[in-house]
Amino acid sequence: MEEKKKQENPLVKKYKSSWELIEEEEKKIVDLFGESYIDFISYSKTERKAVEFSLKLAQSKGFQDINTKKTLKAGDKVYFINRAKNILLAVIGKEPLEKGFNLLAAHVDAPRLDLKPNPLYEDSGMALLKTHYYGGIKKYQWAAIPLALYGVVINQKGEKIDINIGDDPNDPIFYISDLLIHLAKDQMKKSLDEGISGEDLNVLCGSIPLVGKEDEKKPENPIKENILNILNQKYGITEEELVGSEFEIVPAGLARYVGFDKSLIAGYGHDDRSCSFASLRAVLDLKEVPDRTSLVLLADKEEIGSYGNTGLESDFLSYAVLELMDKKENRADILSLKRVLKNSMAISADVGAAVDPNYPGVEDKKNACYLSKGVILKKYTGSRGKSGASDANAEFISMMRNLFTSNEINWQTGELGKVDQGGGGTVAFLLAKMNMDVLDVGLPVLSMHAPTEVIAKIDLYMAYKAYRVFLEKAGC
Ligand code: MN
Ligand code: MN
Repeated sequence: MEEKKKQENPLVKKYKSSWELIEEEEKKIVDLFGESYIDFISYSKTERKAVEFSLKLAQSKGFQDINTKKTLKAGDKVYFINRAKNILLAVIGKEPLEKGFNLLAAHVDAPRLDLKPNPLYEDSGMALLKTHYYGGIKKYQWAAIPLALYGVVINQKGEKIDINIGDDPNDPIFYISDLLIHLAKDQMKKSLDEGISGEDLNVLCGSIPLVGKEDEKKPENPIKENILNILNQKYGITEEELVGSEFEIVPAGLARYVGFDKSLIAGYGHDDRSCSFASLRAVLDLKEVPDRTSLVLLADKEEIGSYGNTGLESDFLSYAVLELMDKKENRADILSLKRVLKNSMAISADVGAAVDPNYPGVEDKKNACYLSKGVILKKYTGSRGKSGASDANAEFISMMRNLFTSNEINWQTGELGKVDQGGGGTVAFLLAKMNMDVLDVGLPVLSMHAPTEVIAKIDLYMAYKAYRVFLEKAGC
């Protein structure tokens, strides 16, 4: 090893597998971290579930509801919940907030199928649910796979009813049919984009008709009405209450290891629950009171542009910072807030597209990221001439790069595809809009936005280490 190191030209940057760089002892920690992530991602099938899981974990580590605190001092650990879909965790630092905080922002929403407001109907002896997809999906990937239903419905009494069906081994699952190959002559000639359309993504949910008494009028849609009966008996809800409910159709099943060496993890929603988990654990595992206040925000609605009051476009983050300023330093004027933000640093913690040997040619291999080669420092995102990008400053990137290098964080660069091949964004531009320094740092993923995505567990662990170093040391 030593011999080899000596032969390497220090002028040339080498990108290596993280497995070559970590000690034998640390490999066990990588395994344990992977195990706890599999628990997290298998449970957190929706943004609400991810927030619920994160909240429980935070509470078990001594984080307290901000509303229960009148004042804040260094070392205090608090959380904010926004409409059950965002969680912001804060560890109050020793320095005044005006010197700035260190923020990790990831998103807990993932591409999926949402039920339409009036979803239930009957056709050809089956009951089905209409959907409208959420985020960027390849529609054909969602047919003929086991699906689960997660959501909340508010009944007439105003009670919130949580419904999760499809992930318990005793549960039924849901299903979207695909056309049998025998009759697919016309379908197979269509493009992948058109083979299954958005309006074709109807979810099979029953087939037994309601059989009334002989003297009763026959129901118009007996199978649909039987489903409504079941929903009423189980949850006390009617068709009217389904309007305005939030139901998400997601892939059923738990996350699993991939490969003979169990080095990879297949699961739903690595984008961006892998960076969310790594960020969450980074703040929960802080050993000492940080100099600068540490913040972790798990946001919603990134996949549809961060709009809405649970997306990063909303004022929630500024509001929370003002609360912290008010409770820690007894001031919450706008100029002080702007000073806090101006001096703050953020990581937009989001995944990047790993080079896929099955699909060569879509990446510039000299600037693309690879599984197992560490966290990705993405200078910019966007597409076609960096449109929509938050392009990080050289000064900030070099500070972060040096921080990672000096703390043995394996890192690589990354770009989402060749120039003009496509592209995509993250929440970075919204943090930049608030006048923070921000850089995208995440981990590589294969089959991004597919019902089952793949990451390398060593990258997940490296992201956790990078995020911890950032919270503990950046700006100090
Ligand atoms: Mn993402
Ligand atoms: Mn995404």
